[in-house]
Amino acid sequence: SRTELARLDQQRHLETPLTVQSLIDGNVSTDEEIPAVNPANGEIIGKIYTATPADIETALAAAHPWAVPVSERADILLAAADLYEEAAATFFSLLATEAGKTIADCVGELREAVDFLRYYARNAVVTNPIAPMGIFTCISPWNFPLAIFTGQIAAALATGNGVLAKPAEQTPLIAAHAVKLLHRAGVPLNALQLVIGAGPKVGAALTSDPRVAGVSFTGSTATAKRIRKAMAEHMAPDAPLIAETGGINAMIVDSTALPEQAARDVTASAFQSAGQRCSALRCLYVQEDIAPAFLEMLKGVMDEQLLGDPWHLETDIGPVIDAAAKKTIDDHIAKAAAEGRLLKQVNVPSRGTFVGPALIRINGIEDLQQEIFGPVLHVATYKADDLDKVIANINGSGYGLTFGLHTRITSRVETVSAQVDVGNVYVNRNQIGAIVGSQPFGGEGLSGTGPKAGGPHYLSRFHSHPLEASL
Ligand code: NAD
Repeated sequence: SRTELARLDQQRHLETPLTVQSLIDGNVSTDEEIPAVNPANGEIIGKIYTATPADIETALAAAHPWAVPVSERADILLAAADLYEEAAATFFSLLATEAGKTIADCVGELREAVDFLRYYARNAVVTNPIAPMGIFTCISPWNFPLAIFTGQIAAALATGNGVLAKPAEQTPLIAAHAVKLLHRAGVPLNALQLVIGAGPKVGAALTSDPRVAGVSFTGSTATAKRIRKAMAEHMAPDAPLIAETGGINAMIVDSTALPEQAARDVTASAFQSAGQRCSALRCLYVQEDIAPAFLEMLKGVMDEQLLGDPWHLETDIGPVIDAAAKKTIDDHIAKAAAEGRLLKQVNVPSRGTFVGPALIRINGIEDLQQEIFGPVLHVATYKADDLDKVIANINGSGYGLTFGLHTRITSRVETVSAQVDVGNVYVNRNQIGAIVGSQPFGGEGLSGTGPKAGGPHYLSRFHSHPLEASL
Protein backbone atom coordinates (compact mmCIF):
# COMPACT_ATOMS: atom_id res chain seq x y z
CA SER A 1 0.00 0.00 0.00
CA ARG A 2 1.01 3.64 -0.34
CA THR A 3 1.28 4.07 3.45
CA GLU A 4 3.51 1.06 3.74
CA LEU A 5 5.72 2.33 0.93
CA ALA A 6 5.96 5.77 2.50
CA ARG A 7 7.11 4.10 5.71
CA LEU A 8 9.70 2.10 3.79
CA ASP A 9 10.84 5.22 1.98
CA GLN A 10 11.34 7.03 5.26
CA GLN A 11 13.28 4.06 6.59
CA ARG A 12 15.46 4.08 3.48
CA HIS A 13 16.55 7.61 4.20
CA LEU A 14 17.08 6.92 7.88
CA GLU A 15 19.40 4.06 7.00
CA THR A 16 21.88 6.08 4.96
CA PRO A 17 24.76 6.84 4.93
CA LEU A 18 25.96 3.48 6.15
CA THR A 19 29.32 2.23 7.25
CA VAL A 20 30.25 -1.44 7.23
CA GLN A 21 33.32 -3.46 7.99
CA SER A 22 34.20 -7.12 8.15
CA LEU A 23 32.67 -9.06 11.05
CA ILE A 24 35.61 -11.04 12.38
CA ASP A 25 36.33 -12.78 15.68
CA GLY A 26 39.15 -10.37 16.57
CA ASN A 27 40.30 -6.84 15.77
CA VAL A 28 39.26 -5.36 12.44
CA SER A 29 41.28 -2.59 10.79
CA THR A 30 39.77 0.48 9.18
CA ASP A 31 42.74 1.21 6.90
CA GLU A 32 41.20 0.57 3.50
CA GLU A 33 37.99 2.30 2.55
CA ILE A 34 35.81 2.28 -0.58
CA PRO A 35 32.48 4.04 -1.25
CA ALA A 36 29.13 2.24 -1.62
CA VAL A 37 27.29 3.66 -4.63
CA ASN A 38 23.60 3.65 -5.56
CA PRO A 39 23.57 2.47 -9.22
CA ALA A 40 20.23 4.17 -9.92
CA ASN A 41 21.59 7.70 -9.41
CA GLY A 42 25.32 7.51 -8.69
CA GLU A 43 24.90 8.81 -5.12
CA ILE A 44 27.30 7.61 -2.46
CA ILE A 45 25.22 5.80 0.16
CA GLY A 46 27.89 4.52 2.48
CA LYS A 47 31.43 3.65 3.35
CA ILE A 48 32.97 0.19 3.26
CA TYR A 49 36.12 -0.82 5.12
CA THR A 50 37.74 -3.71 3.27
CA ALA A 51 39.73 -6.45 4.96
CA THR A 52 43.54 -6.14 5.07
CA PRO A 53 45.86 -9.18 4.94
CA ALA A 54 46.06 -8.96 8.77
CA ASP A 55 42.23 -9.10 9.02
CA ILE A 56 42.15 -12.14 6.74
CA GLU A 57 44.73 -13.89 8.91
CA THR A 58 42.75 -13.06 12.07
CA ALA A 59 39.62 -14.54 10.52
CA LEU A 60 41.37 -17.70 9.32
CA ALA A 61 43.00 -18.24 12.72
CA ALA A 62 39.72 -17.76 14.59
CA ALA A 63 37.50 -19.81 12.26
CA HIS A 64 35.87 -22.78 13.94
CA PRO A 65 33.35 -25.46 12.93
CA TRP A 66 29.92 -25.09 14.54
CA ALA A 67 30.12 -28.07 16.84
CA VAL A 68 26.65 -28.27 18.41
CA PRO A 69 23.90 -30.86 17.75
CA VAL A 70 22.18 -30.50 14.40
CA SER A 71 18.82 -29.76 16.05
CA GLU A 72 20.36 -26.76 17.84
CA ARG A 73 21.86 -25.44 14.60
CA ALA A 74 18.56 -25.90 12.82
CA ASP A 75 16.65 -24.03 15.54
CA ILE A 76 19.05 -21.09 15.27
CA LEU A 77 18.79 -20.98 11.45
CA LEU A 78 14.99 -21.10 11.71
CA ALA A 79 15.14 -18.22 14.20
CA ALA A 80 17.33 -16.31 11.73
CA ALA A 81 14.68 -16.89 9.03
CA ASP A 82 12.12 -15.20 11.28
CA LEU A 83 14.49 -12.28 11.90
CA TYR A 84 15.00 -11.90 8.13
CA GLU A 85 11.23 -11.65 7.65
CA GLU A 86 10.93 -9.05 10.40
CA ALA A 87 13.72 -7.05 8.71
CA ALA A 88 11.91 -6.96 5.34
CA ALA A 89 11.76 -3.16 5.19
CA THR A 90 15.49 -2.78 5.84
CA PHE A 91 16.39 -5.49 3.34
CA PHE A 92 14.17 -3.96 0.65
CA SER A 93 15.75 -0.53 1.10
CA LEU A 94 19.26 -2.01 1.03
CA LEU A 95 18.53 -4.18 -2.02
CA ALA A 96 17.03 -1.25 -3.91
CA THR A 97 19.74 1.27 -3.03
CA GLU A 98 22.87 -0.89 -3.09
CA ALA A 99 21.96 -3.42 -5.82
CA GLY A 100 19.43 -1.38 -7.86
CA LYS A 101 16.73 -4.07 -7.43
CA THR A 102 13.12 -3.32 -8.28
CA ILE A 103 10.59 -3.82 -5.49
CA ALA A 104 9.25 -6.99 -7.18
CA ASP A 105 12.79 -8.39 -7.28
CA CYS A 106 13.40 -7.39 -3.64
CA VAL A 107 10.31 -9.30 -2.52
CA GLY A 108 11.32 -12.40 -4.49
CA GLU A 109 14.86 -12.25 -3.20
CA LEU A 110 13.92 -12.04 0.49
CA ARG A 111 11.45 -14.90 0.01
CA GLU A 112 14.21 -17.07 -1.49
CA ALA A 113 16.71 -16.23 1.26
CA VAL A 114 14.19 -17.17 3.96
CA ASP A 115 13.27 -20.35 2.08
CA PHE A 116 16.94 -21.38 1.88
CA LEU A 117 17.38 -20.92 5.65
CA ARG A 118 14.31 -22.98 6.50
CA TYR A 119 14.88 -25.65 3.84
CA TYR A 120 18.53 -26.36 4.68
CA ALA A 121 17.83 -26.25 8.44
CA ARG A 122 15.08 -28.87 8.10
CA ASN A 123 16.97 -30.89 5.50
CA ALA A 124 19.99 -31.11 7.83
CA VAL A 125 17.85 -32.50 10.64
CA VAL A 126 16.52 -35.19 8.27
CA THR A 127 19.91 -36.13 6.79
CA ASN A 128 21.76 -35.68 10.11
CA PRO A 129 25.27 -34.91 8.84
CA ILE A 130 27.75 -36.12 11.45
CA ALA A 131 31.04 -35.18 9.82
CA PRO A 132 31.34 -31.56 8.69
CA MET A 133 34.29 -30.75 6.45
CA GLY A 134 35.64 -27.97 8.73
CA ILE A 135 35.83 -24.40 7.45
CA PHE A 136 33.98 -23.43 4.28
CA THR A 137 34.68 -20.29 2.26
CA CYS A 138 31.45 -19.01 0.68
CA ILE A 139 31.93 -16.57 -2.20
CA SER A 140 28.86 -14.91 -3.67
CA PRO A 141 27.88 -12.64 -6.58
CA TRP A 142 26.18 -9.22 -6.44
CA ASN A 143 23.16 -10.20 -8.53
CA PHE A 144 21.48 -12.14 -5.70
CA PRO A 145 23.30 -10.45 -2.82
CA LEU A 146 20.87 -11.71 -0.19
CA ALA A 147 19.40 -15.00 -1.49
CA ILE A 148 22.53 -16.67 -2.84
CA PHE A 149 24.73 -15.24 -0.09
CA THR A 150 22.36 -16.65 2.54
CA GLY A 151 21.78 -19.98 0.79
CA GLN A 152 25.49 -20.80 0.65
CA ILE A 153 26.05 -19.86 4.29
CA ALA A 154 22.94 -21.68 5.50
CA ALA A 155 24.00 -24.92 3.80
CA ALA A 156 27.52 -24.83 5.23
CA LEU A 157 26.31 -23.91 8.71
CA ALA A 158 23.44 -26.41 8.79
CA THR A 159 25.96 -29.20 8.20
CA GLY A 160 28.16 -28.00 11.08
CA ASN A 161 30.91 -26.18 9.21
CA GLY A 162 32.41 -22.86 10.15
CA VAL A 163 32.00 -20.21 7.43
CA LEU A 164 34.14 -17.44 6.02
CA ALA A 165 31.69 -15.44 3.89
CA LYS A 166 33.06 -13.17 1.14
CA PRO A 167 30.28 -11.14 -0.49
CA ALA A 168 30.68 -9.43 -3.86
CA GLU A 169 32.50 -6.10 -3.54
CA GLN A 170 29.43 -4.30 -4.93
CA THR A 171 27.02 -5.50 -2.19
CA PRO A 172 28.62 -5.72 1.29
CA LEU A 173 25.95 -3.60 3.03
CA ILE A 174 23.29 -6.23 2.33
CA ALA A 175 25.66 -9.04 3.36
CA ALA A 176 26.61 -7.32 6.63
CA HIS A 177 22.97 -6.87 7.62
CA ALA A 178 22.28 -10.56 6.92
CA VAL A 179 25.28 -11.72 8.97
CA LYS A 180 24.28 -9.48 11.89
CA LEU A 181 20.86 -11.16 11.95
CA LEU A 182 22.42 -14.65 11.82
CA HIS A 183 24.63 -13.70 14.79
CA ARG A 184 21.64 -12.24 16.61
CA ALA A 185 19.78 -15.52 16.11
CA GLY A 186 22.63 -17.37 17.83
CA VAL A 187 25.28 -18.35 15.26
CA PRO A 188 28.63 -17.87 17.06
CA LEU A 189 31.02 -15.26 15.69
CA ASN A 190 33.83 -17.78 15.15
CA ALA A 191 31.46 -20.04 13.15
CA LEU A 192 30.37 -17.23 10.81
CA GLN A 193 32.74 -14.44 9.88
CA LEU A 194 32.17 -11.86 7.16
CA VAL A 195 35.29 -10.84 5.25
CA ILE A 196 34.72 -7.88 2.95
CA GLY A 197 36.90 -6.99 -0.02
CA ALA A 198 37.91 -7.48 -3.63
CA GLY A 199 37.85 -10.91 -5.29
CA PRO A 200 41.49 -11.01 -6.41
CA LYS A 201 42.64 -10.00 -2.90
CA VAL A 202 40.27 -11.27 -0.22
CA GLY A 203 38.50 -13.94 -2.30
CA ALA A 204 41.80 -15.32 -3.58
CA ALA A 205 43.29 -15.45 -0.05
CA LEU A 206 40.28 -17.34 1.30
CA THR A 207 40.37 -19.94 -1.49
CA SER A 208 44.09 -20.70 -1.32
CA ASP A 209 44.65 -21.53 2.33
CA PRO A 210 45.05 -25.09 3.61
CA ARG A 211 42.98 -24.23 6.71
CA VAL A 212 39.93 -24.00 4.44
CA ALA A 213 38.28 -27.40 3.82
CA GLY A 214 35.95 -26.50 0.97
CA VAL A 215 34.62 -23.67 -1.18
CA SER A 216 31.08 -22.79 -2.18
CA PHE A 217 31.18 -20.35 -5.09
CA THR A 218 28.55 -18.63 -7.20
CA GLY A 219 29.69 -16.23 -9.90
CA SER A 220 31.24 -16.25 -13.33
CA THR A 221 32.74 -19.32 -15.00
CA ALA A 222 36.09 -17.51 -15.38
CA THR A 223 36.36 -16.89 -11.63
CA ALA A 224 35.36 -20.50 -10.85
CA LYS A 225 38.24 -21.72 -13.01
CA ARG A 226 40.67 -19.43 -11.15
CA ILE A 227 39.42 -20.71 -7.80
CA ARG A 228 39.71 -24.34 -8.89
CA LYS A 229 43.34 -23.73 -9.86
CA ALA A 230 44.15 -21.98 -6.56
CA MET A 231 42.49 -24.77 -4.57
CA ALA A 232 44.43 -27.44 -6.47
CA GLU A 233 47.68 -25.71 -5.58
CA HIS A 234 47.04 -24.90 -1.93
CA MET A 235 44.26 -27.05 -0.50
CA ALA A 236 43.67 -30.74 0.19
CA PRO A 237 43.22 -32.74 -3.05
CA ASP A 238 39.71 -33.82 -2.02
CA ALA A 239 38.55 -30.32 -0.94
CA PRO A 240 35.15 -29.79 -2.61
CA LEU A 241 34.40 -26.84 -4.89
CA ILE A 242 30.66 -26.38 -5.25
CA ALA A 243 30.35 -23.92 -8.12
CA GLU A 244 27.28 -22.34 -9.67
CA THR A 245 28.37 -20.27 -12.64
CA GLY A 246 27.28 -18.52 -15.82
CA GLY A 247 25.15 -19.51 -18.76
CA ILE A 248 24.42 -18.67 -22.38
CA ASN A 249 20.78 -19.63 -22.19
CA ALA A 250 18.55 -20.27 -25.21
CA MET A 251 14.83 -20.39 -25.91
CA ILE A 252 13.05 -21.81 -28.96
CA VAL A 253 9.75 -20.31 -30.12
CA ASP A 254 8.21 -22.45 -32.85
CA SER A 255 5.41 -21.52 -35.23
CA THR A 256 2.73 -23.18 -33.08
CA ALA A 257 3.51 -20.98 -30.03
CA LEU A 258 0.95 -18.48 -28.74
CA PRO A 259 2.67 -15.28 -29.90
CA GLU A 260 1.41 -12.79 -27.30
CA GLN A 261 2.29 -15.06 -24.43
CA ALA A 262 5.66 -15.95 -25.95
CA ALA A 263 6.54 -12.26 -26.54
CA ARG A 264 5.79 -11.42 -22.90
CA ASP A 265 7.71 -14.42 -21.60
CA VAL A 266 10.70 -13.62 -23.82
CA THR A 267 10.70 -10.03 -22.55
CA ALA A 268 10.61 -11.09 -18.90
CA SER A 269 13.24 -13.79 -19.44
CA ALA A 270 15.70 -11.47 -21.17
CA PHE A 271 15.14 -8.10 -19.52
CA GLN A 272 13.71 -8.54 -16.01
CA SER A 273 16.34 -7.62 -13.39
CA ALA A 274 18.06 -5.78 -16.28
CA GLY A 275 19.12 -9.19 -17.60
CA GLN A 276 21.34 -9.69 -14.56
CA ARG A 277 20.23 -13.22 -13.79
CA CYS A 278 22.34 -16.26 -14.50
CA SER A 279 19.16 -17.90 -15.82
CA ALA A 280 18.31 -15.02 -18.19
CA LEU A 281 17.54 -15.65 -21.83
CA ARG A 282 20.47 -14.64 -24.06
CA CYS A 283 19.76 -16.37 -27.39
CA LEU A 284 16.26 -16.62 -28.84
CA TYR A 285 15.54 -18.93 -31.79
CA VAL A 286 12.34 -18.07 -33.66
CA GLN A 287 10.99 -20.33 -36.39
CA GLU A 288 11.54 -18.54 -39.68
CA ASP A 289 7.94 -18.35 -40.96
CA ILE A 290 6.64 -16.48 -37.88
CA ALA A 291 9.78 -14.42 -37.23
CA PRO A 292 8.87 -11.06 -38.89
CA ALA A 293 5.49 -10.78 -37.13
CA PHE A 294 6.80 -12.17 -33.85
CA LEU A 295 9.75 -9.78 -33.69
CA GLU A 296 7.44 -6.80 -34.33
CA MET A 297 5.26 -7.93 -31.43
CA LEU A 298 8.34 -8.41 -29.24
CA LYS A 299 9.53 -4.87 -30.00
CA GLY A 300 6.10 -3.60 -28.95
CA VAL A 301 6.33 -5.39 -25.59
CA MET A 302 9.86 -4.03 -25.09
CA ASP A 303 8.49 -0.51 -25.58
CA GLU A 304 6.05 -1.07 -22.72
CA GLN A 305 8.86 -1.69 -20.22
CA LEU A 306 9.35 1.17 -17.79
CA LEU A 307 12.95 1.90 -16.85
CA GLY A 308 13.66 4.02 -13.81
CA ASP A 309 14.06 4.32 -10.06
CA PRO A 310 13.86 0.76 -8.74
CA TRP A 311 12.09 2.09 -5.67
CA HIS A 312 8.98 3.08 -7.69
CA LEU A 313 6.39 0.34 -7.80
CA GLU A 314 5.65 0.83 -11.50
CA THR A 315 9.30 0.38 -12.55
CA ASP A 316 9.91 -2.79 -14.56
CA ILE A 317 13.65 -2.50 -15.11
CA GLY A 318 16.28 -0.86 -12.90
CA PRO A 319 19.94 -0.02 -13.56
CA VAL A 320 22.81 -2.42 -14.14
CA ILE A 321 25.09 -2.85 -11.16
CA ASP A 322 27.88 -0.36 -11.88
CA ALA A 323 29.71 1.76 -14.45
CA ALA A 324 32.11 -1.06 -15.40
CA ALA A 325 29.20 -3.41 -16.16
CA LYS A 326 27.45 -0.68 -18.16
CA LYS A 327 30.55 -0.09 -20.26
CA THR A 328 30.98 -3.79 -21.13
CA ILE A 329 27.33 -4.09 -22.17
CA ASP A 330 27.26 -0.74 -24.03
CA ASP A 331 30.42 -1.73 -25.98
CA HIS A 332 28.81 -5.03 -27.00
CA ILE A 333 25.69 -3.22 -28.24
CA ALA A 334 27.74 -0.54 -30.04
CA LYS A 335 29.70 -3.21 -31.92
CA ALA A 336 26.45 -4.87 -33.04
CA ALA A 337 25.09 -1.46 -34.12
CA ALA A 338 28.25 -0.75 -36.14
CA GLU A 339 27.78 -4.09 -37.89
CA GLY A 340 24.13 -3.32 -38.68
CA ARG A 341 22.80 -6.04 -36.35
CA LEU A 342 21.05 -3.88 -33.73
CA LEU A 343 17.32 -4.42 -34.31
CA LYS A 344 16.09 -2.26 -31.44
CA GLN A 345 17.15 -0.50 -28.26
CA VAL A 346 14.87 1.13 -25.68
CA ASN A 347 15.75 4.63 -24.38
CA VAL A 348 17.18 5.04 -20.89
CA PRO A 349 17.06 7.60 -18.04
CA SER A 350 20.00 10.02 -18.12
CA ARG A 351 21.17 9.43 -14.51
CA GLY A 352 22.61 6.24 -13.08
CA THR A 353 24.03 3.17 -14.79
CA PHE A 354 21.08 2.19 -16.98
CA VAL A 355 21.29 0.20 -20.21
CA GLY A 356 18.32 0.24 -22.60
CA PRO A 357 17.07 -3.28 -23.41
CA ALA A 358 18.48 -4.24 -26.80
CA LEU A 359 17.68 -6.77 -29.51
CA ILE A 360 20.60 -7.98 -31.64
CA ARG A 361 20.51 -10.23 -34.71
CA ILE A 362 22.88 -13.22 -34.79
CA ASN A 363 23.14 -16.39 -36.88
CA GLY A 364 23.06 -18.71 -33.89
CA ILE A 365 24.35 -19.35 -30.39
CA GLU A 366 27.78 -20.17 -31.82
CA ASP A 367 28.20 -16.41 -32.47
CA LEU A 368 28.15 -15.74 -28.71
CA GLN A 369 31.59 -16.25 -27.26
CA GLN A 370 30.75 -15.11 -23.75
CA GLU A 371 27.87 -14.35 -21.41
CA ILE A 372 26.79 -10.69 -21.72
CA PHE A 373 25.36 -10.03 -18.27
CA GLY A 374 22.79 -7.36 -19.01
CA PRO A 375 19.53 -6.54 -20.88
CA VAL A 376 20.65 -7.77 -24.30
CA LEU A 377 18.73 -10.37 -26.27
CA HIS A 378 20.30 -12.02 -29.31
CA VAL A 379 17.88 -13.41 -31.85
CA ALA A 380 18.31 -15.99 -34.62
CA THR A 381 15.80 -17.64 -36.94
CA TYR A 382 15.66 -21.31 -37.89
CA LYS A 383 13.92 -23.46 -40.50
CA ALA A 384 11.51 -26.16 -39.26
CA ASP A 385 13.77 -28.92 -40.63
CA ASP A 386 16.77 -27.59 -38.72
CA LEU A 387 15.48 -28.04 -35.17
CA ASP A 388 17.93 -30.87 -34.42
CA LYS A 389 20.81 -28.72 -35.64
CA VAL A 390 19.69 -25.84 -33.40
CA ILE A 391 19.63 -28.14 -30.38
CA ALA A 392 23.06 -29.55 -31.23
CA ASN A 393 24.42 -25.99 -31.41
CA ILE A 394 22.83 -25.07 -28.08
CA ASN A 395 24.44 -28.12 -26.48
CA GLY A 396 27.69 -27.27 -28.25
CA SER A 397 28.01 -23.98 -26.33
CA GLY A 398 29.36 -25.99 -23.40
CA TYR A 399 27.13 -24.13 -20.93
CA GLY A 400 24.05 -25.83 -19.55
CA LEU A 401 22.01 -23.70 -17.19
CA THR A 402 18.49 -22.93 -18.44
CA PHE A 403 16.50 -23.53 -21.62
CA GLY A 404 13.04 -22.36 -22.67
CA LEU A 405 10.57 -23.73 -25.20
CA HIS A 406 7.34 -22.27 -26.53
CA THR A 407 5.33 -24.80 -28.55
CA ARG A 408 1.91 -26.37 -28.58
CA ILE A 409 3.16 -29.72 -29.90
CA THR A 410 3.18 -32.04 -26.89
CA SER A 411 5.56 -34.60 -28.38
CA ARG A 412 8.04 -31.79 -29.13
CA VAL A 413 8.06 -30.77 -25.47
CA GLU A 414 9.14 -34.30 -24.56
CA THR A 415 11.75 -34.81 -27.28
CA VAL A 416 13.38 -31.38 -27.04
CA SER A 417 13.45 -31.37 -23.21
CA ALA A 418 15.18 -34.74 -23.32
CA GLN A 419 17.75 -33.56 -25.89
CA VAL A 420 18.99 -30.32 -24.30
CA ASP A 421 21.83 -30.65 -21.79
CA VAL A 422 20.76 -28.08 -19.18
CA GLY A 423 19.90 -28.02 -15.51
CA ASN A 424 16.47 -26.34 -15.77
CA VAL A 425 13.94 -26.45 -18.64
CA TYR A 426 11.01 -24.00 -18.82
CA VAL A 427 8.06 -24.78 -21.13
CA ASN A 428 5.45 -22.24 -22.29
CA ARG A 429 6.39 -19.79 -19.55
CA ASN A 430 9.17 -17.36 -18.77
CA GLN A 431 12.63 -18.64 -18.03
CA ILE A 432 12.88 -17.12 -14.58
CA GLY A 433 13.11 -18.53 -11.15
CA ALA A 434 13.16 -21.67 -9.13
CA ILE A 435 11.40 -22.62 -5.94
CA VAL A 436 13.55 -23.76 -3.04
CA GLY A 437 12.53 -27.29 -2.11
CA SER A 438 10.31 -28.06 -5.11
CA GLN A 439 12.28 -26.72 -8.10
CA PRO A 440 16.01 -27.12 -7.38
CA PHE A 441 18.22 -24.89 -9.54
CA GLY A 442 21.64 -25.51 -11.04
CA GLY A 443 23.56 -26.10 -14.25
CA GLU A 444 25.82 -28.54 -16.03
CA GLY A 445 29.08 -28.24 -17.97
CA LEU A 446 30.54 -24.72 -17.80
CA SER A 447 27.47 -23.63 -15.77
CA GLY A 448 28.20 -25.50 -12.57
CA THR A 449 29.30 -28.56 -10.66
CA GLY A 450 26.01 -29.50 -9.01
CA PRO A 451 24.32 -30.56 -6.79
CA LYS A 452 21.40 -28.24 -7.44
CA ALA A 453 20.73 -25.49 -4.91
CA GLY A 454 17.48 -25.82 -3.01
CA GLY A 455 17.35 -29.55 -3.74
CA PRO A 456 17.51 -32.62 -1.51
CA HIS A 457 21.14 -33.46 -2.41
CA TYR A 458 22.66 -30.01 -1.99
CA LEU A 459 23.92 -30.52 1.56
CA SER A 460 25.73 -33.74 0.66
CA ARG A 461 28.83 -31.93 -0.58
CA PHE A 462 29.19 -29.93 2.65
CA HIS A 463 30.03 -32.93 4.81
CA SER A 464 32.01 -36.12 4.43
CA HIS A 465 30.39 -39.52 4.54
CA PRO A 466 32.40 -41.63 6.98
CA LEU A 467 30.39 -44.80 6.33
CA GLU A 468 30.87 -44.61 2.56
CA ALA A 469 34.54 -43.71 2.94
CA SER A 470 35.22 -46.77 5.09
CA LEU A 471 33.52 -49.20 2.69
P1 NAD B 1 32.32 -12.72 -10.47
O1 NAD B 1 32.84 -14.08 -10.84
O2 NAD B 1 33.00 -11.55 -11.04
O3 NAD B 1 32.39 -12.54 -8.89
C1 NAD B 1 31.77 -13.46 -8.01
C2 NAD B 1 32.50 -13.44 -6.68
O4 NAD B 1 33.82 -13.95 -6.86
C3 NAD B 1 32.65 -12.04 -6.07
O5 NAD B 1 32.44 -12.12 -4.69
C4 NAD B 1 34.09 -11.71 -6.39
O6 NAD B 1 34.66 -10.80 -5.49
C5 NAD B 1 34.75 -13.07 -6.25
N1 NAD B 1 36.03 -13.21 -6.93
C6 NAD B 1 36.49 -12.56 -8.03
N2 NAD B 1 37.74 -12.96 -8.34
C7 NAD B 1 38.08 -13.89 -7.42
C8 NAD B 1 39.25 -14.69 -7.20
N3 NAD B 1 40.33 -14.61 -8.00
N4 NAD B 1 39.26 -15.56 -6.16
C9 NAD B 1 38.19 -15.67 -5.36
N5 NAD B 1 37.06 -14.94 -5.49
C10 NAD B 1 37.00 -14.06 -6.52
O7 NAD B 1 30.77 -12.74 -10.78
P2 NAD B 1 29.73 -11.54 -10.58
O8 NAD B 1 29.96 -10.55 -11.65
O9 NAD B 1 29.71 -11.09 -9.15
O10 NAD B 1 28.33 -12.29 -10.81
C11 NAD B 1 27.79 -12.51 -12.07
C12 NAD B 1 28.09 -13.93 -12.53
O11 NAD B 1 27.55 -14.87 -11.62
C13 NAD B 1 27.46 -14.26 -13.87
O12 NAD B 1 28.38 -14.98 -14.64
C14 NAD B 1 26.27 -15.14 -13.49
O13 NAD B 1 25.84 -15.99 -14.53
C15 NAD B 1 26.81 -15.87 -12.33
N6 NAD B 1 25.73 -16.40 -11.47
C16 NAD B 1 25.43 -17.74 -11.50
C17 NAD B 1 24.39 -18.24 -10.72
C18 NAD B 1 24.01 -19.69 -10.74
O14 NAD B 1 23.21 -20.10 -9.91
N7 NAD B 1 24.53 -20.50 -11.64
C19 NAD B 1 23.66 -17.37 -9.93
C20 NAD B 1 23.98 -16.01 -9.92
C21 NAD B 1 25.03 -15.54 -10.69
